[in-house]
Amino acid sequence: MRPCGAAVERLPELPEVETTRRGIERALVGRRVQELHIYDARLRWPIAHDLPRQLAGQRILAVGRRAKYLLLQFERGTLIMHLGMSGSLRVLPARTPAGKHDQFDLVLEDGALLRLNDPRRFGSIHYTSEAPEQHKLLRHLAPEPFADDFNADYLWRITRGRRAAIKQVLMNGRLVTGVGNIYASEALFRARVNPRRAASRLTRAECAKLVRAIRAVLTLAIRAGGTTLRDYVGTDGNPGYFRRRLYVYERAGRACRVCGAPVRRITQGQRSTYLCSQCQH
Ligand SMILES: [Zn+2]
Repeated sequence: MRPCGAAVERLPELPEVETTRRGIERALVGRRVQELHIYDARLRWPIAHDLPRQLAGQRILAVGRRAKYLLLQFERGTLIMHLGMSGSLRVLPARTPAGKHDQFDLVLEDGALLRLNDPRRFGSIHYTSEAPEQHKLLRHLAPEPFADDFNADYLWRITRGRRAAIKQVLMNGRLVTGVGNIYASEALFRARVNPRRAASRLTRAECAKLVRAIRAVLTLAIRAGGTTLRDYVGTDGNPGYFRRRLYVYERAGRACRVCGAPVRRITQGQRSTYLCSQCQH
C-alpha cells in the first residue's frame, strides 16, 4: 500500500489533471474504441448503462481539459471525465487483469486500454453529443488560470469590495477554477502577498503579480510531472517531483527558502495555509 495523507489534501488538482491529459493523449488520439468494459458503474453518478454502445467503434479525435474535467472528443460526442478525490487513469496493455477499485476499461483497437481506478468513487463520467462547454457541469465554470479571460483586470475586478481573505477568493470555484490549496499558498508566497489580506486591499500591481505567480507555479507543477501529492501517481506510474520545489506548502517550522524565518501554518476555511510572515505582506 502507498501511504495515505489527509484526504482533503490529496485531491488531484489542475496540474495533476493536465499531467494525466498529456500522459493519455498520445495513446488515445486517432485510436478507435473496441469496447467499454465497466467493472463497477458506481461513481459520483452511476455510469450510463448505454455508454458502451455509444462509444463502441468511435475514433478518439482529441483529449482536452476544462478546469479539472478531461474531455475525450469522439466523432459523435464528448466524454466528460472528472477524477474526483482519488481517481487515476492509466494506459495499459490489453488484457491486464483488473484489480480492486478499477471502474472501467476503455479498450482500444490497437490493443491498449485506458483504465479508471477510483477507490473513493467521487469521480464522474458523462457523454454528450452537444458542445461540451454547454454541458451542465461545464457551463458555469469560472475562468481558469491559463485562459485569456483570467488576467490582472479580472482579478482586480473580482476582488473589489470583497472582504474575504485573498486565499479564500483564489479557492472560490465560482470566481476562479483550478487553483487548489497547494498552489494558492505557493502563488501567494511568490507574489509576496499575505494570504490573510482582505482581497479588496490588493493593489492593481499585486493582482498582476498574483496572476503571474499562479500561472508560474501551475506551469512548473505541470512541467515537473504534475504532482506533489503523497499517493497520486501519474499516468506512467511515477510520483511527481514538484514537492521538492515548494517554498511554503507543508514546510511549517522549516526555514523560509528566501529569508530564513520559520514558515508558518494557519487555518483558513478549514484548510491549511502556509506562509512566511517576513516575506508576505
Ligand atoms: Zn521568508
